[in-house]
Amino acid sequence: MTKASDDDIRAELGLRPVINVSGTMTSLGASIVVPEAVTAVTRVMTEFVEMGDLLRQASHTIAELTGAEAGFVTASCSAGISLAVAAAMTGNNLWAIEQLPDTGTLRNEVLIQAGHIVSYGAPVDQAIRLAGAKVVPVGQATSAHGYQLDGAISERTAAAVYVVSHHVVDYGQIPLKTFADICHARGVPVIVDAASEYDLRRFLADGADVVLYSGHKFLGGPTSGICAGRKDFIRNIYLQNRGIGRGMKVGKEGVAGVIAALQAWKNRDHAGIRARERRALDLWLKTLTGRDGITAHIVPDPTGNPLDRLKVVVDPEAARVTAWDLASMLASGPHPVIVRDHEAEQGYLLLDPCNLHPDEESIVAARLLEELDRARRSNETISTPHAQHLLAQEKNILKWPD
Ligand SMILES: *Cc1c(COP(=O)(O)O)cnc(C)c1O
Repeated sequence: MTKASDDDIRAELGLRPVINVSGTMTSLGASIVVPEAVTAVTRVMTEFVEMGDLLRQASHTIAELTGAEAGFVTASCSAGISLAVAAAMTGNNLWAIEQLPDTGTLRNEVLIQAGHIVSYGAPVDQAIRLAGAKVVPVGQATSAHGYQLDGAISERTAAAVYVVSHHVVDYGQIPLKTFADICHARGVPVIVDAASEYDLRRFLADGADVVLYSGHKFLGGPTSGICAGRKDFIRNIYLQNRGIGRGMKVGKEGVAGVIAALQAWKNRDHAGIRARERRALDLWLKTLTGRDGITAHIVPDPTGNPLDRLKVVVDPEAARVTAWDLASMLASGPHPVIVRDHEAEQGYLLLDPCNLHPDEESIVAARLLEELDRARRSNETISTPHAQHLLAQEKNILKWPD
């Protein structure tokens, strides 16, 4: 098994050389930042810039790639939600911007389908409330209808938020186009959270007034949030840096890094990357074929991103290990492999190839075999009751920094 290279800063920091097959996870450092962004960050760090001008350049680049009138860069997509909601409430009223999160007499209600009130590591609704807005859920978790959205709009309504994500309930929700039509007929702007979605144009085309992306996910930029939309709306988001946006701002490095990552996105060899990811999936599939208690197949991304994953179904009787225990075993030791395990209670894991360095796929294959063999050799099935597994995870959260 290869070990991390000598110039790997992780060893110096006392960190394990994790291999990420879970996807783009903030808790693992998000993504591999593309070389173009790394260079831009390094080059700008030691210079003074006029931030308004740098952000104006970012606006041009974002507009070019998204088809929007303008764009803005903030700390994260989560910050983008708070700032877009703030902008919808304050407009360009500088005094109101300084009063937030006190909304006084401003319209302050924000509509969101109940099935979209999810957690991406923190609750979506909290990002809305952070601006001082009041969340008004539309429909129920498993169904929302146009009449419910229309009925919920009042003279208090400032905006509506729409989330595109594998996290949301994936049936019974109002399609974005219909959602936007209903909102626009009543003069309500639509904010789309598309943090992890590769398509930089579709949501604006479908009626978003502002769409939000994470700069540090599929784009491979530094930690940041990208806002794209109508020029007046984007300007009002920018103006929030005089208020609640101050604590959510990015520095010059973040803005220059995002510009470079977006430019690199235009030239990225998407087909080549897809083919490389496919080779990793095929290797893991071959590795797992015929293993006792394991069935694996390639599944498409649930929101239609150009990305496939390997679904590894674990039969605890035959494999002698549960899916969640297998995930824990893979994540342990000096060569941790972090798999996508948020649905492990359903008896499967997913392997996501989108954040692999060259040759890491074979380490992943070796680690899979190692842990599956360990399970086969154990006297009894390795099976932590799932409820206990959850409680242990919860307990762990509170242990940091120990
Ligand atoms: C990741 C994610 C976010 C948060 O993005 P950050 O840029 O890390 O704040 C918000 N919404 C969805 C749907 C996400 O997947």
